[in-house]
Amino acid sequence: MKGMTRHDNRPHILVVGGGYVGMYTALGLQRRLRRRARITVVDPRSYMTYQPFLPEAAAGSLEPRHVVVPLRKVLKHCDVITGEVRWIHHATKTVNVHPEAGEPYDLEYDILVVALGSISRTLPIPGLAEVGIGFKQVEEAIALRNHVLDRLDVAASTTDEAVRRRALTFVFVGGGFAGVEALGELENMAQYARRYYPQIGPHDMRWVLVEATGRILPEVGPEMGVYTVEELSKRGIEIRLETRLESCVDGHVVLSKGKPFDADTIVWTAGVKANPVLRNSDLPLDDKGRVRCLPEMRIDGLEDAWAAGDNAAIPDLTAGEPGVMTAPNAQHAVRQAKLLAKNIVAAMNGRFPKPYKHKYIGSVASLGLYKGVAHTYGIKVRGFPAWFMHRTYHMSKMPTFNRKARVLVDWTMALLFRREVVTLGRTSMPREDFRRAATDDSRTLVK
Ligand SMILES: Cc1cc2nc3c(=O)[nH]c(=O)nc-3n(C[C@H](O)[C@H](O)[C@H](O)COP(=O)(O)OP(=O)(O)OC[C@H]3O[C@@H](n4cnc5c(N)ncnc54)[C@H](O)[C@@H]3O)c2cc1C
Repeated sequence: MKGMTRHDNRPHILVVGGGYVGMYTALGLQRRLRRRARITVVDPRSYMTYQPFLPEAAAGSLEPRHVVVPLRKVLKHCDVITGEVRWIHHATKTVNVHPEAGEPYDLEYDILVVALGSISRTLPIPGLAEVGIGFKQVEEAIALRNHVLDRLDVAASTTDEAVRRRALTFVFVGGGFAGVEALGELENMAQYARRYYPQIGPHDMRWVLVEATGRILPEVGPEMGVYTVEELSKRGIEIRLETRLESCVDGHVVLSKGKPFDADTIVWTAGVKANPVLRNSDLPLDDKGRVRCLPEMRIDGLEDAWAAGDNAAIPDLTAGEPGVMTAPNAQHAVRQAKLLAKNIVAAMNGRFPKPYKHKYIGSVASLGLYKGVAHTYGIKVRGFPAWFMHRTYHMSKMPTFNRKARVLVDWTMALLFRREVVTLGRTSMPREDFRRAATDDSRTLVK
């Protein structure tokens, strides 16, 4: 195994993960340290994803490329490595990197920032791994958009009633932010697209939200959660509370309550868990697999190792009781990252790092074009004003002026020209036509 060692005598800060925490921490560090340290960011993707905009990217209100931030473009004074960290050994200050191609190698560091985020938390449900899709990455949002529009094409072009019914059945499992927003936006987009499909009537599509507990969108509080159920139900969306997905082999959906049915689309958004790569490390983990941290985001008991975001258990100093950790959301991730960069520099300068303290200000969620729900600073808002708040809030938080401007242009274009509802699902098999042509020619030669 090839080793990768330092090129110079400056301290080497290694940031594993280039999402919210990784990108914002590296930005803060490069601004403050530029020449004093070498900063490396490792991520399997060459971009950071602004996840709150994924539902709008799936619905076609935003161009998917505009909801990601290219790491190399913004981290000009960092080394960006496109690869996966497979293990972390802090005792020897080494991580193992698997680049997309070529031999894996070890990378040494002086200071470590763990920003590996979370992955979908699934259950061993028969059929789920084969037919389900998550909703955490921009690739999933693009695929889902293409898939939903493709299913409308299938339904409009078949004479088989069973094929048509399953093509028009869309199931979302998990009633948190990701599930409710993705369902709300995609249903809204599909209802809009229906105007180009005279074969599909207003009640032909079946959209189902399955939630194991008795409420949805806990992030906006019980009252707004009830409003969201009413709003989605009015649109004909079936909300199945206190219901679990038990099986979905070959798309045959069996719920803990009600009759089984078939669906071509099963989206799993039932929560997240800390990145399992952390289990391949010598870092201290809590019972949820997150890195145990002190309030200043230093990893418990370790020197020169820090963590924040979804993969870190950071005490919530505003909770008023011990043992409560900050929730896995962007609101904390961004604020933690900004303080983390300052704390690392403070520690390098022999000063004391500051503890992280932020009281959750509430949430905003979009339920489709002009529809939303919000609960922030104790104020509850619904409908158009909430949708507008959702857009302006996330617009202000979108990293870089370039991305803000592109998002604004997308929204303006969507207002002027309505939504784009073309599906480019065949981009997932770009060689198909050429392969068929080549196979055909070789057959002709053999004859
Ligand atoms: C659809 C959706 C909507 C959301 N909406 C909201 C919202 O409205 N408000 C809100 O506050 N929060 C929202 N969230 C949650 C928010 O996006 C996350 O809490 C936030 O992204 C956490 O930041 P992070 O840096 O910890 O993780 P991430 O941003 O997920 O970054 C983790 C990074 O680690 C990288 N990585 C993974 N494995 C490896 C590896 N082996 N080696 C190297 N790198 C690796 C990943 O590629 C990724 O770039 C939403 C999430 C989703 C999925």
